[in-house]
Amino acid sequence: MTSSSPKSVVVTGANRGIGLTIVQELIKDKNIELIIATARDVERAGDLKSINDARLHILPLEVTCDKSIDQFVAKTTELLGSNGLNLLVNNAGVMIPYQTKGEPNRAALAEQFDVNTISMVILTQKLLPLLRESALKSSGDQLSISRCAVINISSGLASISQNNYGSNFMPLLAYSMSKTAVNQFTKAFSIDTKDDHILSVAFEPGWIKTNLGGPNAELTLEETIPTLVSSFYKLNNTHNGGYYLRDLTVLPY
Ligand code: NDP
Repeated sequence: MTSSSPKSVVVTGANRGIGLTIVQELIKDKNIELIIATARDVERAGDLKSINDARLHILPLEVTCDKSIDQFVAKTTELLGSNGLNLLVNNAGVMIPYQTKGEPNRAALAEQFDVNTISMVILTQKLLPLLRESALKSSGDQLSISRCAVINISSGLASISQNNYGSNFMPLLAYSMSKTAVNQFTKAFSIDTKDDHILSVAFEPGWIKTNLGGPNAELTLEETIPTLVSSFYKLNNTHNGGYYLRDLTVLPY
């Protein structure tokens, strides 16, 4: 994990589950100089705080709150100085049951989209000056996480064409739709930032035992996240705007 290490990383929703494990993996890379991990409630982020490493900074972030995002971006800017941000991992997410057979519920649909999709777009936009700053420090067209990348944690349920059984079989309509929109954002952002040389990729980590994945999930964090993180290091121009399984297998939209 040395040839293409980012110098700085932000991981959202890092106090537990996949976000925490991504941080635990990345911290093993001694070439990374700064890891900013976010938690809604820093006081209660015990597992994150138990990582004893001066390169790790834990900052509060409620992704649905613009004031919280602005405070986070200000603090992140202060920590990064003029170096810019190399890698943003948009991981924070929620899964709320929804099916067309049930009662229509605008609030349940909106909350799902707010956390999983809208907040990802807003946070990425607000971090764009820092991302550009790092990307423009290198010349040429080469894309990598050591230059600048936005990695969005999507889901296998984002795919319209694969494993789509409708919402009555699996009552996760709002979740699936919000993650399909994450893939749309990933692709659009990769096109929008072509001249900025920012790599943008969406990943399906697998169905994993976490609070969100539940106890019946088929995989563990240990079985999946090391593979996911090692894929980050393999990303290049050919992956820009794409949607992949954790091992970089191409997934259909
Ligand atoms: P967890 O429920 O274990 O963790 C979710 C994380 O997101 C927590 O840190 C949580 O913080 C944070 N979060 C939720 N809402 C907000 C918010 N409004 N503002 C800031 N942070 C927030 O889930 P996972 O680790 O499993 O999921 C992480 C990502 O991976 C999600 O995007 C999920 O959709 C995706 N994913 C998960 C799969 C799985 O099988 N587990 C499969 C495919 C994708 P807090 O502790 O404060 O609630």
